[in-house]
Amino acid sequence: MVFSYADVRAAVPTVSRHLPPTPMWSYPVLNAAVGATVHVKHENTQPVGAFKARGALNLLASSPGRGTVTYSTGNHAQSMAWASHLFDTPCTVVMPAGANPGKVAAVRAWGATVVLTGDVLADAEAHAVELARETGQLLVSPGDTPQLPAGVGTLYVEVLTAHPDLDAIVVPVGSGTGAAAAAVVVEALAPRCEVIAVQSSASPAAHDSWRSGSPCTRPNRTRVEGLATGRGYDLPQQILRKHLTDFVLVSDARITEAQRLLATSAHTLAEGAGAAALAALLEFPDRFAGREVAVICTGGNASPAELAELAVP
Ligand SMILES: *Cc1c(COP(=O)(O)O)cnc(C)c1O
Repeated sequence: MVFSYADVRAAVPTVSRHLPPTPMWSYPVLNAAVGATVHVKHENTQPVGAFKARGALNLLASSPGRGTVTYSTGNHAQSMAWASHLFDTPCTVVMPAGANPGKVAAVRAWGATVVLTGDVLADAEAHAVELARETGQLLVSPGDTPQLPAGVGTLYVEVLTAHPDLDAIVVPVGSGTGAAAAAVVVEALAPRCEVIAVQSSASPAAHDSWRSGSPCTRPNRTRVEGLATGRGYDLPQQILRKHLTDFVLVSDARITEAQRLLATSAHTLAEGAGAAALAALLEFPDRFAGREVAVICTGGNASPAELAELAVP
């Protein structure tokens, strides 16, 4: 069930057929604020506003036809809906009842069926398992499906092709597939580059799973959607245990500060998860001082509540 760098290489032509490389820019005002040379990888410019488009595209390209059932707080849902639309395949997404209305509308607009149920992702997961059993459609776990991180790995091929001598890449984590993809590609292309994962201290399941050496469950209280998971996932954890340099935690308040900084100094509207990597640089400035660092702006789908909070200093 794991994936390798060979799977990422195999995904490159599939992904590049439908998605051009995303821009990666460095901004002097941002660099001055952080005290490091920061390269912002703009996955917020994907057609669904998040990096997960790459993984869904790779999955649907390799297993089209019978239709999928999945569960998500938002960006995985949009990505599955978008890729299913591209391959003309039915897609059902189960989301928590309180999901970001903008993300729900976007999923529906790509033609997927949305089922809203329960308070948290675990409720949506249970319902999706049931639906897949009833319909015979493929159940897609956002955390444990190897084609997803294999597709996401193409992002890190782009990063290291543009800047082969980076000192570190900082990646926000929910389930950990994005960080696992980074770790696999960095190991193959730039083994001296550090890969540093970041999670919200209000939802530390992946962080605590990595520190303790086995997947565990934890309170899930962050307001940052893409990072809101209550358990560690086996597949990414297996890879992170071998290849990750370090895993840090930041507060939700620090993430909001990083969102503001991206808005004012990098012309970028990031959702909270998309600003979490930069938040790690703000939280641990000494660790990154004077170094060459890529931060992955993983998404730009800020909710109305997040947008309102950004406007209040
Ligand atoms: C899903 C998501 C993450 C976390 O990625 P994982 O692969 O689940 O760890 C980070 N940022 C955004 C915008 C996301 O949608």
